Amino acid sequence: AKQAGRNTVRFFDQQMQDAVTARVALEGELHKALDRQQFRLHYQIQVDASGRPLGAEALIRWMHPERGLVPPDQFIGMAEETDLILPIGQWVMDTACAQLKTWQQHAPTRDLVLAVNVSATQFHQLDFVFQVRATVQRHAIDPKLLKLELTESMLLENIEDTIRTMNALKEIGVQFSLDDFGTGYSSLQYLKRLPLDQIKIDQSFVRDIASDSNDREIVGTIIAMAQNLYLDVIAEGVETEEQRQFLQDNGCTHFQGYLFGKPVPVEQFEAMLQPDRAS
Ligand code: C2E
Ligand code: CA
Ligand code: CA
Ligand code: CA
Repeated sequence: AKQAGRNTVRFFDQQMQDAVTARVALEGELHKALDRQQFRLHYQIQVDASGRPLGAEALIRWMHPERGLVPPDQFIGMAEETDLILPIGQWVMDTACAQLKTWQQHAPTRDLVLAVNVSATQFHQLDFVFQVRATVQRHAIDPKLLKLELTESMLLENIEDTIRTMNALKEIGVQFSLDDFGTGYSSLQYLKRLPLDQIKIDQSFVRDIASDSNDREIVGTIIAMAQNLYLDVIAEGVETEEQRQFLQDNGCTHFQGYLFGKPVPVEQFEAMLQPDRAS
């Protein structure tokens, strides 16, 4: 038993060693990914209750030459720890605004709102307001079409600074959505103080709507709360017509999920908007 125990320890040592090596390698490659133009934005459609396109969420993708497509969950955390999220976040903002500019010039995409994910590190930079304003101006876009997705935990960090930052951006017309809502601890009391436009119901509550009466209750409460604050509500991770129907019956007005479309490259996204498309 002693011998086996020692082997087990050695086995885990080796596994940990491998994990560390893999991590260091990935981090090295992440440093070069921007220069090598390996990032892409994919766009996931957001619709209203009648299925009409309202906008999209921009989701980053890392196209690695050997590893293939690396999903954000495998590198965003690392990017945050190393502050690489700052140049990457700026690249996302720039690319999103350039895309909005193109959309503004054509009929079917003219009014689409583009939601961009902002990380805590980015948001708490002293020059965040300046950077967003400069990017919006550089691309000459209507700031109302840009929606920043923030999470509860990052807003709680320093509520007074948060409110100041949000108000400064609100002044130029930028919109705010509270991402992953329901997973944190925000009270109505404090939500009231934030100049939000939208609350996004986390997909973990949407997933089990059909089977879990607790989740149905939570979703109903979140929507009622949003209505009390005069905020839009969007549900993410909507995969079935049953989920969509329940959400709509309870007052949800905006929808996002595989039921309407997966995140796709811009050409594919634009093709989805053509009224004469097949199927
Ligand atoms: P998120 O902001 O909560 O994004 C929603 C995630 O759910 C996306 O995963 C999306 O592809 C996925 N999703 C959408 N519809 C469905 C559905 O119907 N069913 C299921 N099961 N999943 C669905 P993705 O693209 O892998 O992104 C993961 C996370 O990475 C995002 O979560 C966000 O926190 C982060 N992220 C993505 N892009 C960016 C970015 O540009 N900047 C920052 N800071 N974070 C980003
Ligand atoms: Ca998001
Ligand atoms: Ca989310
Ligand atoms: Ca999430």
